[in-house]
Amino acid sequence: MKPSSLVRPSVLKLHAYVPGEQPKIKGLIKLNTNENPYPPSPKVLKALRDAVDGRLRLYPSPTAQRLREALAKLHRCEPANLIVGNGSDELLALATRAFVEPEGKSSRSAKARARVQYFTPSYSLYPVLADIHGAIRNPVSLLPDFAIPSLDELQHGRQWDFQAALTLVTTPNAPSGRGYSTRQLKELCTAQTGVVILDEAYVDFGEANALELALQLPNVLIARTFSKAYSLCFQRVGYFVGHPELIAALDKIRDSYNVNGLGQIAAVATLRDLPYYRKNLTRVKRTRAWLAKELAALGFDTLPSVTNFILTRPPVFPATEWLRRLRERKLLVRWFNYPEIRDRIRVTIGTQVEARALVTAARCVISASRKK
Ligand code: PMP
Repeated sequence: MKPSSLVRPSVLKLHAYVPGEQPKIKGLIKLNTNENPYPPSPKVLKALRDAVDGRLRLYPSPTAQRLREALAKLHRCEPANLIVGNGSDELLALATRAFVEPEGKSSRSAKARARVQYFTPSYSLYPVLADIHGAIRNPVSLLPDFAIPSLDELQHGRQWDFQAALTLVTTPNAPSGRGYSTRQLKELCTAQTGVVILDEAYVDFGEANALELALQLPNVLIARTFSKAYSLCFQRVGYFVGHPELIAALDKIRDSYNVNGLGQIAAVATLRDLPYYRKNLTRVKRTRAWLAKELAALGFDTLPSVTNFILTRPPVFPATEWLRRLRERKLLVRWFNYPEIRDRIRVTIGTQVEARALVTAARCVISASRKK
């Protein structure tokens, strides 16, 4: 018997999500997965250390109660407006299962109920979630400058589905780094009859956010994470804010102890030391501006960014060649094989020292090309 014959055909056909590389090469500067270059607050590290004892034998709070209470205070809402997940990735997967029918009957309204809709390019996990669930993907292009099309344009473009069961919007957008106004997002959310998730993974690196929409509109969920602005990728903590009835639906289908205890402790301690993180956000923004300016002087064409990464079109060589040449110099950046951005590389904003190393390496790559 061939074990693979035991696997559902739809699962055999799946292409899994490909995360950025996590190589453990000494001296490598990792600017490829949008991690925060600064460590968690010393108070968070202490809270974690203090928690590592015999109590590890106990189950954690199944509802992340203390964390949800602290988040409710921060966002001026109720714990019933909040669900915590093992990273926001887990919650995005739960949302697909809770709000989208697997593809079945073929009437028009049945199709809409099976549709997972998102803009391209955006977070490359969304199509994977649709495929895992056996739902219908509906990718719709952003405008060439990565703006979200207006409602008029969406209506005329025909491909957009205002009835889609689930619409996922990365805002600010990844991988372009572009931000969207709350006014435009509200217009879009109001026009949709299904659930809209505004995925604000990178929102803290900008100036505005759309959290109010999750508390105003019954079909909107805001996705947030402790991974990026709060330096906690390793602990896997994310959360959704939204209407209690949507939150209750997600709550029903999650694992009982979906958020590990140390993750809950780390996140609660993070919320008690927000000024530490604000300082780091300011440093990242400063480095972002410096890096864009230095790269521009070398001939890179960088899109404006309100995130902790930039998407930039390099000079002289194609983007894939830059990927290789920077890697030779122990700098890891990311390249995406999407038609809209194939000519660009995405660079995570590191520390000022890391950004300087990137600029120096880029200068060397360019001058080496001139010598030939
Ligand atoms: N949304 C976007 C747009 C992301 O880039 C990421 C991180 N890759 C996530 C959500 C998930 O973050 P996490 O699961 O670490 O909370």
